[in-house]
Amino acid sequence: MRAEFPDFRLGTVLATSFTGTLSERRGNPVERIPTPQRLVDWLAVYGLAVDSCTTAQLDLARELRESIHAAATAAAIQDALPANAVRVINDCSVQGRAAAILAPDGQRQWQLSSASSVEDALSVIAADAISIIAGERDGKLALCASPTCQAAFFDTSQSRTRRWCDMNTCGNRQKKARFNATHRKTPTPAE
Ligand SMILES: [Zn+2]
Repeated sequence: MRAEFPDFRLGTVLATSFTGTLSERRGNPVERIPTPQRLVDWLAVYGLAVDSCTTAQLDLARELRESIHAAATAAAIQDALPANAVRVINDCSVQGRAAAILAPDGQRQWQLSSASSVEDALSVIAADAISIIAGERDGKLALCASPTCQAAFFDTSQSRTRRWCDMNTCGNRQKKARFNATHRKTPTPAE
């Protein structure tokens, strides 16, 4: 029987969707890429198909993920970037050999150097993180307002006032909590 794995939270921004494969970092963390195969599955969703992944490559992916999380969090609160995290992101970016390809339909695709090219895929993610943290893209890094999450996300809303990393999970939970708090209030007794 196939084991049940936590589903993915798929955002539109590659780097912060990748950091979202570990959620509830400040609560009860949920690891969404618990096995090498789940990383392969996740990469395929983002057009970075690889044939296989070793345990060592999964470890490297998680190291990159936590480094992006640390650097993006620092950037969001305008803190100095942690040197270790920057080193890991840069190493991953340099080590991969991925090429941007223009598809016939005008979409950008990534061509990885070989079938087992997790490192290539990670370099694409690292480069995406660099472009966001460097402020090259239209948007702003912010931290999720959920106390158990506090994930760094990339706010591309016009007003730059988005509060949650994900509306369907953190946003919804908060709305429910507010609703319950309001409706739990006991009416003021009559004097
Ligand atoms: Zn969140």
